[in-house]
Amino acid sequence: MAPTFHSGAFIQQCFASHRLCLTLKKLAFPEKILLACTSCNMLHRLTVRALTTHAPAARATTEGAHGGDEAADCLRHCLAAHQAALGVREVDVLQDSVGLRCAECRRSYDLGVAAFETHQH
Ligand SMILES: [Zn+2]
Ligand SMILES: [Zn+2]
Repeated sequence: MAPTFHSGAFIQQCFASHRLCLTLKKLAFPEKILLACTSCNMLHRLTVRALTTHAPAARATTEGAHGGDEAADCLRHCLAAHQAALGVREVDVLQDSVGLRCAECRRSYDLGVAAFETHQH
């Protein structure tokens, strides 16, 4: 069986060297998100403890921020409607956070991550 690495180092590495190869593969809410790297064939599974979304930058105030179910619904919608537009904007394993962005809705998502896991094929 392929080993599982319990570390954020791998997704950090993917993000640093080929961020465009990271794609959002699957949502298993309430708490799991699966990202695939098409360059190194790794699957990164994130355990999410918090999800917030921000409307387009013009309204980047606290009013534009939503959390919880609403953010999850937005992200589900993006994944279903235009998966290719979703990209990884930021990975910060020290802060345990990952940022996603939807190029279609110009919406950004902030994930607080409780655990990083990486599976290699
Ligand atoms: Zn990679
Ligand atoms: Zn979208």
